[in-house]
Amino acid sequence: MNRTLSIDNQSVKYGDKAVINLNIARLISGTEIDLPIYAYRSKKPGPTVLLSGGLHGDEINGVEIVRRMIDQKVFDNLKCGSVIAIPVMNIYGFLNFSREVPDGKDINRSFPGSLSGSLASRVAYNLTHKVLQEIDFGLDFHTGGANRYNYPQTRFDPSDARAKEISEVFNASISLESKFIDKSFRKQAMKMDKTIVVYEAGESMRFDEQSITEGILGAKKVLAHFGMIDFTSEPQETIKCSESIWVRAKSSGILHLEKTSGQFVKSKEILATITDPFGNFKTKIKAPKGGTIIGHTNAPLVNQGDALYHIGN
Ligand SMILES: [Zn+2]
Repeated sequence: MNRTLSIDNQSVKYGDKAVINLNIARLISGTEIDLPIYAYRSKKPGPTVLLSGGLHGDEINGVEIVRRMIDQKVFDNLKCGSVIAIPVMNIYGFLNFSREVPDGKDINRSFPGSLSGSLASRVAYNLTHKVLQEIDFGLDFHTGGANRYNYPQTRFDPSDARAKEISEVFNASISLESKFIDKSFRKQAMKMDKTIVVYEAGESMRFDEQSITEGILGAKKVLAHFGMIDFTSEPQETIKCSESIWVRAKSSGILHLEKTSGQFVKSKEILATITDPFGNFKTKIKAPKGGTIIGHTNAPLVNQGDALYHIGN
């Protein structure tokens, strides 16, 4: 419960709203790169919540979720607490339609970062010291990468009771227990005694309306749960998964999906077939065990070993 809110030495008072342009670095052209951060404070104390998208610059559903919430003025009259809204955390990737920063590094594997490190490391450093430090908890919006579609799902580490609570309140179609990944934003938050719940929905570089609306709905439920906004809605069923497996391509070829995300499949059920352009072979891909399909690839051509389906249990 923050008494002060200060980002990059710019403080935001109770009852105020501010746009803070956090200077990150400079492009080769000399253009300065700023990270725009929207901060909203109620007159009443309460939790400080981060809503962030675009840590992977091509995962635009998350950008759209935060953008729409700013546009709809969801945070303009908070009943208590503060919201820090960052639609695009990876400005470089967003400009280049890419997951990473220009040197090919993933910001989400670069935490806590360093001021004298590579671009990814510098962005991570700024997010760690100027944003994470200020918050109590946050929702970080992602999508599947590399042609993979994720059915709307929250991800949290089961060792973090607050993350479990937030995930339950968010009430996405699916919740998946998922261990912390080294050097990730979520793990860095945990090290600082903060909580980040990740929402994964849709596919990179594709708007998916179901993913966007479910993300906004979940974020509003979380803010309402902590008394920050007035909002009520009907609860929906969340399929709770405590583990997941990947089903991979047994051979290279042309992929035809027979099952899709959100469907329940039984063990040995046929998920897809892989063929070659000449009709010489047809390989059936079967579910190694039953469960709910929580993600699938949309790639029409696959190589042996490529991830085809993500099945949760
Ligand atoms: Zn991502």
